[in-house]
Amino acid sequence: MGNNSKIYEIAILAKATWNLHSLNNEGTVGNVTEPRTIVLADGTKTDGISGEMLKHIHAQNLWVLEGDKNKLCESCKNLEPMRADGSKVVRGEKTPSGAVKKSLKGCMICDLHGFLVQKPTVARPSTVEFGWALGVPQVHRDIHLHARHAVGEKAKPTKEEQQNQKEERPETAQMVYHRPTRSGVYAIISIFAPWRIGLNNVNYDYEIDQDIRKQRYLLALRAYQGMFSRPDGAMTSTRLPHSDGFEGLVVISRTNFPVPVISPLKQTYQEEMEKIAQKISGLEIQKFGDLSGFVEKLDNISNSDLYTLIKPEEKKKI
Ligand SMILES: [Zn+2]
Repeated sequence: MGNNSKIYEIAILAKATWNLHSLNNEGTVGNVTEPRTIVLADGTKTDGISGEMLKHIHAQNLWVLEGDKNKLCESCKNLEPMRADGSKVVRGEKTPSGAVKKSLKGCMICDLHGFLVQKPTVARPSTVEFGWALGVPQVHRDIHLHARHAVGEKAKPTKEEQQNQKEERPETAQMVYHRPTRSGVYAIISIFAPWRIGLNNVNYDYEIDQDIRKQRYLLALRAYQGMFSRPDGAMTSTRLPHSDGFEGLVVISRTNFPVPVISPLKQTYQEEMEKIAQKISGLEIQKFGDLSGFVEKLDNISNSDLYTLIKPEEKKKI
């Protein structure tokens, strides 16, 4: 089979409806937690969930999905962010290509999510990329009060209680927290480049065999299914999102053409993407209308072969 029917790159363009969540926040000052606010090109302020957070959740899902943690490097075994840079074996390498080779052979998460090694200095770009999840204006925001009661300390009686001379009062003190909650539709963009799985970006050799490349590809697809089937992020212990809609496109590039991306913020993104696919051969568009459709679309391509770069023969020395 030639490269034509294989998977080069995949784009996920989706709109997710999340109700009453607080997945990403600016920070907490005192007892007030501020929601994330971002500004769009037309000046509209809206709500967002950072690409860093989404990428981290994808990596976390990969870690969960890998049953044998011995297949990961010393850092990724414990999901530590330094990745290959925390591996003695990798840092012992003398050349950048040697360090990348060791990392790709030794760790699925380092291969898929990329890393930066300080010595020898080399960066390996991630094969998965995420944009911010952008709240399609308008996201509904609310601040909810959350009171935490501590038993054992007697709270001051209120004026009314003093007037009524009520002496019997529960012996509690309370701390009041202001917590944001949002409901809205979020535009999501992500790219996955399976042609780069196992590919050493210094010398352009594939460092792992096709079977392992396909196993890693499958895990990356599963991690996508996992992260959108069960949204994760901040404050999920009390603000687990009520997931509602999930619709969009899986765009597949089957030739060495960069998979196009149009934000689902734009109302006509689906029609426009179809027009592009009519002009450029090798682009395939799969629509989904709900989460089960999304899971199915990724399942349908989970057994596909991966595009493989053909490296030019090295020139013979004369
Ligand atoms: Zn690793």
